[in-house]
Amino acid sequence: MRFADMDFDIPDSTVEFEQRLITVLSSPKTQELLDEVHHRADGMDGDPRPLYRHLGRAGLLAPSWPKEYGGLEADPTATVKLLEHMVQYGVPQSLYYISVQIVGSLILQSGTDQQRRTLLPRLASGELTMCILFTEPGHGSDLAGITTSATGNDDGSWTLDGRKTYNLKTAYADLALCAVRDGGETNRYESITLFLVPLTGPGISIRPIPSLSDEQFHDVRLTNVRVEREATLGRVGEGWGLITRMFTAERNGLDYYARARYWLEQITARITQAGREPHVEELVGLAHHRARLRASHLLCYRVLQGLSQGEADIAQASLAKWHCSETAQGIAWWAVQTWGVDALEPGPHTFDAAFREAPGMTISGGASEVLLDIVAGARLLDHASTGG
Ligand SMILES: Cc1cc2nc3c(=O)[nH]c(=O)nc-3n(C[C@H](O)[C@H](O)[C@H](O)COP(=O)(O)OP(=O)(O)OC[C@H]3O[C@@H](n4cnc5c(N)ncnc54)[C@H](O)[C@@H]3O)c2cc1C
Repeated sequence: MRFADMDFDIPDSTVEFEQRLITVLSSPKTQELLDEVHHRADGMDGDPRPLYRHLGRAGLLAPSWPKEYGGLEADPTATVKLLEHMVQYGVPQSLYYISVQIVGSLILQSGTDQQRRTLLPRLASGELTMCILFTEPGHGSDLAGITTSATGNDDGSWTLDGRKTYNLKTAYADLALCAVRDGGETNRYESITLFLVPLTGPGISIRPIPSLSDEQFHDVRLTNVRVEREATLGRVGEGWGLITRMFTAERNGLDYYARARYWLEQITARITQAGREPHVEELVGLAHHRARLRASHLLCYRVLQGLSQGEADIAQASLAKWHCSETAQGIAWWAVQTWGVDALEPGPHTFDAAFREAPGMTISGGASEVLLDIVAGARLLDHASTGG
């Protein structure tokens, strides 16, 4: 989609959605649930599921989905508002984003009728959560090299064996979207299958890996894990195409943009607190980061609007994720460069958590170098096909 074709108006339906969202987020019940999530003695991320169920009961979690699956059939701007406000109110958004916006959206596009009917309403109501088991030791960017295996059994079921690593939110997820090598005698892209694997069954061991940020990673071992025939998402051997499609939804940059926006608001509040007059360097920095944030918003909105119209462009999505994550990281680091360790002191405008989260932003969901490689490759092809 070209920027010239984009519609930037916020429809009335999104304004109403945002008002309802703010009413629910600022209610005493939400505040009580937020307090519970944020009061973990070890400082790590708490369990957000009760909070999600509360928001899900209010019908807020899957605005763009069809009504029959618990959505509102809303314009993509409603999803942007949802993420902006979740971050602003301190609702941990990773588990939600993975469950609904990434895996849920893939099930909506590519699942069977049965999977859509049974899983999507529970995702939209916050009763079901998901994680992603793609990365393996040695296979992150080079995802097509995964070795976790699926062996077909005579009764149509499958047995999974292998190890996945650096996955987020696994401890709070019911099901995992797991990419495996299915034994098909073809090339490395044509023998990958996606499975929806229940995480409570026998043969699954989950170990936390400490992380610089507040969110733990996990290392998951699958040993003789039996899953039913119906657990495949999409056809056997067609996982790579689905992964590429999923990356287009995952890499819209929205969750990175929402954090960048919130962090810049925090910096602005700090710069201007108690009527303080900002220094010229601070004003220049603000202008620079505001311009980048605006560009992030446009890039991310272009991908969302394209997706809502059935257009999936992996190069546009890669560009959006790259720009949004680099912008968010730049903002977090600018705060610390500007105020030194003072920015890390506890308090309402602390940048401690943001500073520790920032390095992972340009690695998760596709490392920056890999994303730029995709953009460059696609644009070279465009150039070649137009004879330029
Ligand atoms: C915060 C966070 C959350 C994550 N959540 C999940 C999750 O939920 N589930 C999951 O499965 N995984 C998750 N991951 C793992 C993530 O997908 C991988 O870390 C990522 O794909 C990079 O893979 P890698 O760590 O193996 O690094 P590598 O692929 O080894 O990359 C190392 C460096 O080499 C560069 N590089 C690699 N290939 C190329 C190339 N072709 N051209 C140029 N440069 C290249 C990369 O850009 C990077 O700088 C998460 C990671 C982070 C940081």
